[in-house]
Amino acid sequence: MNADPNCIFCKIVAGQIPSKKVHEDELVLAFHDIHPWAPVHVLVIPKQHIATLADVGPEHSALLGHMLGLAPRLMRELGVDNGFRTVINTGRDGGQEVYHLHMHVMGGPRPWARG
Ligand code: 5GP
Ligand code: ZN
Repeated sequence: MNADPNCIFCKIVAGQIPSKKVHEDELVLAFHDIHPWAPVHVLVIPKQHIATLADVGPEHSALLGHMLGLAPRLMRELGVDNGFRTVINTGRDGGQEVYHLHMHVMGGPRPWARG
């Protein structure tokens, strides 16, 4: 699996930085965001290093479908039963802070801290 040695999320995938995991399979990892915006806030990331959504191609279609399809399942498992928000920030103007592709999945009763 290609990894970037300077990437914080690659280090989480490798277990070099701890995370509160909610799901892991051969393609992706999902874990709780360290600064949650909502009562439930998880990040779904590919295990391989892809910097941004702008870097994906047709070869990533199955991976992206898998990431999106996991969102409702994870929210159900985490007790979110009244809707949720999915967000992918891309690039500087998109407000991306960590340059390893990730999908935010947020839910739980409002009000939320942000979002
Ligand atoms: P972005 O702004 O790039 O879309 O979001 C990056 C997210 O990663 C932020 O919500 C931030 O709280 C989260 N984050 C950054 N570093 C870590 C970390 O080391 N562990 C976890 N669990 N989340 C992190
Ligand atoms: Zn990475």
